[in-house]
Amino acid sequence: MLTDLSLVEARDGLRRRAFSAAELTEAHLDAVAALNPRLNAFITVSADRARAQAVAADAKLAAGESGPLLGLPLAIKDLFCTEGVRTTAGSRILEPFVPPYESTVTANLLRDGAVFLGKANLDEFAMGSSNMTSAFGPVQNPWTRADGAALVPGGSSGGSCAAVAARMALGATATDTGGSIRQPASFCGIAGVKPTYGRCSRWGIVAFASSLDQAGPVARTVGDCAVMLGSMAGFDPRDSTSADRPVPDFAAACRRGVRGLRIGVPREYRSDAMPAEIEALWQQGLAWLRDGGAEIVDVSLPHTKYGLATYYIVAPAEASSNLARYDGVRFGRRVEGEDLTELYERTRAEGFGAEVRRRIMIGTYVLSAGYYDAYYLRAQKVRALILRDFTDAYAQVDALLTPTAPSAAFAQGDKMDDPVAMYLNDVFTVPASMAGVPGLSVPAGLDPQGLPLGLQVLGRPFDEETVFAVGAVLERAAGFRHLPAIRAGAPA
Ligand code: GLN
Repeated sequence: MLTDLSLVEARDGLRRRAFSAAELTEAHLDAVAALNPRLNAFITVSADRARAQAVAADAKLAAGESGPLLGLPLAIKDLFCTEGVRTTAGSRILEPFVPPYESTVTANLLRDGAVFLGKANLDEFAMGSSNMTSAFGPVQNPWTRADGAALVPGGSSGGSCAAVAARMALGATATDTGGSIRQPASFCGIAGVKPTYGRCSRWGIVAFASSLDQAGPVARTVGDCAVMLGSMAGFDPRDSTSADRPVPDFAAACRRGVRGLRIGVPREYRSDAMPAEIEALWQQGLAWLRDGGAEIVDVSLPHTKYGLATYYIVAPAEASSNLARYDGVRFGRRVEGEDLTELYERTRAEGFGAEVRRRIMIGTYVLSAGYYDAYYLRAQKVRALILRDFTDAYAQVDALLTPTAPSAAFAQGDKMDDPVAMYLNDVFTVPASMAGVPGLSVPAGLDPQGLPLGLQVLGRPFDEETVFAVGAVLERAAGFRHLPAIRAGAPA
């Protein structure tokens, strides 16, 4: 079945002319039609556009062209502005917004020939770990538990990850501010890469927390992510924090192996509260790397315990400032009022969901006169210490290995009345976001309930190549071939 191919396999098939881009796209659109009503992974399906892009790709293939992603159908997180295609950020306030421009990352993918199937669901403004906060309804994880409970796909890139895990797309764009690529990739049994801050342009991506937001790929394999990131990355003069560095051959890095590498195990990531199966998987991952010729080294990241606390000051602060632009005047929805102030108030009260309002209030509080020094400035200072932890560790080791998340996917509705329990999901992913270092999640095993668990590889700034090399070795050793039940029984 065409939807069972990985992105790299599909690309090879297209080049061999074993099938056409039109057939490949149609197969994925069929999967979307069959599964999306249940999973709600897409907010918008742009089927006609996808078909037209596929036909154009076939013409290029027939002319002997071979763009890195020519004819490959992808899902786009609905946080990336797509010219002429509605972009909602999962929020009511942007429900009617059709951008007049294309984000740099999606423009790069189009340049390389990709086909866009549609816009993937997400937590509202990418704030969340469950996809429960989307104004367009929750996404369901394609994986199910023995008790039959509907599970969250993780978040905020839950629609992107569910689409890939259910074989509705070969890959998807995602963004990660505190874990939103890595945690849902782990929950959905796929690979996901958060590159170094600055590796991909933020231009045209709806902003959440600008000093943390980073785009990256999610796909079935580490190698697929490498191909996608090669297209997505690159310097962009329109983003002042974009890094002016050459884009390495990430796919080649996947073949390097780990012989001679030093892999660090941060001792602060271990706690008595860690479920036994997560600890066991972590040990297994270290054993796989040792077998591959790596040396395992204990390291310390002493400020890890402040990661979440400082993240939940910095991220809401920046969000409150970024979201000030949604006032009913320029973008998206407007609710009229007696005067301008009432227009602002009504628009924002009706447009934003509860979690977004909570973050705006926290952010406005920590930035207000008198509290700025006590909270925001302090959090930024601690952030510098978190970065220094990583810098010190990387003087001793080439990469770090940790679990991606403290649990497997949980049930829809769990943790909803306890924001702190929800925020704790990001305990292993947030420190790398605060430090801006690259990270990858690779599916490595199943928990006792049959749900996927991921391992996280973290690397030095702009050394995604080592992260890919380590991730590929783990992927080969783990041999994760499990399929969610929703696809396992699918007709051939
Ligand atoms: N779950 C985290 C949050 O709610 C991270 C979200 C993200 O990375 N976009 O902020």
